[in-house]
Amino acid sequence: MTPPSPTPNAAPASIAAPNGAPERSNFIRDIVAADVAVGRIEAPVTRFPPEPNGYLHIGHAKSICLNFGLAAEFGGHCNLRFDDTNPAKEEQEFLDAIEGDVRWLGFDWGDHLYHASDYFEQLYEWAVHLVRNGLAFVDDQTADEIRETRGTLTSPGTNSPFRDRSIEENLDLFARMRAGEFPNGTRVLRARIDMASPNINLRDPVLYRIVHASHPRTGDAWCVYPTYDFAHGQSDAIEGVTHSICTLEFEVHRPLYDWLIEHLPVPSRPRQYEFARLNLSHTVLSKRFLLRLVSDGRVRGWDDPRMPTISGLRRRGFPPQGIREFAEMVGVTKTDSVIEYGLLEYAVRDVLNRTAQRRFGVLDPLKVVIDNYPDGQVETLEVVNNPEDPSAGTRPVEFSRELWIEREDFMEEPAPKFFRLGPGREVRLRNAYFVTCQSVVKDDAGRVVELHCTYDPSTRGGDAPDGRKVKATLHWVSAAHAVPAEVRLYDHLFTRPDPGADGDLLADLNPDSERIVAGAMLEPALADTPLGETVQFERLGYFAPDTDSRPGALVFNRTLTLKDTWAKVQARGGAGG
Ligand code: ATP
Ligand code: MG
Repeated sequence: MTPPSPTPNAAPASIAAPNGAPERSNFIRDIVAADVAVGRIEAPVTRFPPEPNGYLHIGHAKSICLNFGLAAEFGGHCNLRFDDTNPAKEEQEFLDAIEGDVRWLGFDWGDHLYHASDYFEQLYEWAVHLVRNGLAFVDDQTADEIRETRGTLTSPGTNSPFRDRSIEENLDLFARMRAGEFPNGTRVLRARIDMASPNINLRDPVLYRIVHASHPRTGDAWCVYPTYDFAHGQSDAIEGVTHSICTLEFEVHRPLYDWLIEHLPVPSRPRQYEFARLNLSHTVLSKRFLLRLVSDGRVRGWDDPRMPTISGLRRRGFPPQGIREFAEMVGVTKTDSVIEYGLLEYAVRDVLNRTAQRRFGVLDPLKVVIDNYPDGQVETLEVVNNPEDPSAGTRPVEFSRELWIEREDFMEEPAPKFFRLGPGREVRLRNAYFVTCQSVVKDDAGRVVELHCTYDPSTRGGDAPDGRKVKATLHWVSAAHAVPAEVRLYDHLFTRPDPGADGDLLADLNPDSERIVAGAMLEPALADTPLGETVQFERLGYFAPDTDSRPGALVFNRTLTLKDTWAKVQARGGAGG
C-alpha cells in the first residue's frame, strides 16, 4: 500500500517552518564551523567545479547553493572553476550557459573565475615530479588491457609489464607524449601506487591520456590531458580551496586525492568532503542523458520548460528564490534518497504565492453576452495585483458587454457538486458584477457557443447590497480588449517516478508532457509581462512568458498549477477513497 501523499501544498512534515525557524545546519556546515572555531582556517574557500559538457541541472543547483552559501555565511569565497580537462566533449556554449545559470541563481564568484586548463603547465610539471620520484610511469598497454588487469573488489590487480621502466625512459616517453609523437590511446601516464590495494582507485590510476583534440581555451597547445583525479585536487590546492565538497561517488577517490596532495609540492592542503547527490522523481539528473534528449530532438532544447536544467526551470517560470529554498529544504546528508518532484513544486509555489501578480486569463474561452449591459459601454475597474502584497498596487481592467469565461465554468445540466454557471444560475464575475445565465446558444453540432446573461448593476465590485450570496466566482476577460495567446501546459517529462528502472529511459518518456492550447484569451496587461516574470492567472495557476513569445504572438508557459492536482489524485487512489 502506498501511503497517502501529503495534503496538496502543505509542507511535508520533515520541512522546518520557513519563518522564524533556527538556521538549518548540516554536517558539512558543522565541519566548516568547527574549522573556523578552532582556527584551522580563517574563512572557508569552496568551489563549484562543473565540467562544461552540458547545461547545469537542479542537482548542480544543490551543489551551487551549498558551496556559495557556506562561503558567504562564513565570510569566505567560492570559486567558479571549469573542470575543462576533456576537450572532446566541451564547448564554449556550455561555459557561457553555466556562468549565466549560476548568476541567475543569485550567486557571484567575483574575481574567482578559474579553469583547470589554466593549470595545465603546472599540472604537467607535477606529473614530471612524480615520474622523477618513481611515483608515476608511462604505460603502453591499451585501455582494455589496463581495465582487464585492474582486478576486482575481491582480487588484486596485476602489475603492468611497463611498471618498472627507468625514470629516464619514463621522462623521455612522457615528454614525447606531450610533443605529439603518439596517437590517441597508445600510452598513458599512471601513478605507481599499489596494484594490490583494496581500493581500486589506488591501483596505479591513470593521470594523463593522449587526446589529439582542440580545446576551447588552450586550442592545440596540448595533446595530453590530465584525468579528473589528477586535475581536481591539485587545482583545489592551487586555489587555496579549504573544503572541496563533492558528491558521494567520489568518496572512494578520496584516498587518491590525499595521496596526490601528500606526494606533490602543492601550495596548500585542501580536504575533500562528500554529500549525497540530489535525485529527483519523474526526471533524470544526468548531463549525458539530457544531452541525448536534446540531440534526438525529444525536447525543444536544453532550456525546454520540461527539462530539469536550470535554464529549463527558468524558462518555465520558476523563480531562483524557489530553487534556493528547495535546496535548503532537501538539506545536505550522506544518505542517498530520491526527492519527490512535488517538493520542488511546493517550494516554488510558496514563493510565487507571495510574489506573483494576479492576472485574468481564459484558456478555453466561452463567449458571454450581457444583454442588459449598454452596448458600447466600457467600465474600468481597479483590480488588486497581489492580495498577499499591498505594495504591488492595482491595475485597470476593462469590463464590457461581451466577455470570455472558461468553458469548464459552465454546465448546461450542472452535476451535483458543480456550483458554477448553469441556466438560471447567478455567479460573481471576479471584481465586477453578479450575472445570471438566461439562455444558451448552440451551433449545429449542439455545442454551446455563447451564453446570454443579465447583470445586476447594484453588485459592482462583487457584492450585493441585499446581502444575497452566490456560490461561485469566475474569472473573465473583456472580449473587445482581450489579447490572444498560445499557452503551453506541462506535465512530468517521464511517466514514472523512477524513469529507466526497467532499463529503457526513452520508453518512459511521457508523450503528453507538453500540451499546447492555441486560443487562450488574456487581459491586455499580460502582453507587457517581461520575460522572467511569473504571474498568477487567477484560479488557473502560475504562468510565465516563453522565450518564443513575440508582440502579437504571445506564448505563455504554465509554470505550475495552483494546487498539486497530481498529488491529490495520488492521495485519492492511495488512500482508497
Ligand atoms: P552529471 O552526472 O549530470 O553529468 P556531473 O557530476 O558529471 O553531473 P559536473 O559538471 O562534474 O557534473 O558537476 C559539478 C559539480 O556538481 C560537482 O561537484 C558535482 O558533485 C555536483 N553535482 C552534480 N550532480 C549533482 C547532483 N545530482 N546533486 C548534487 N550535486 C551534484
Ligand atoms: Mg562529472
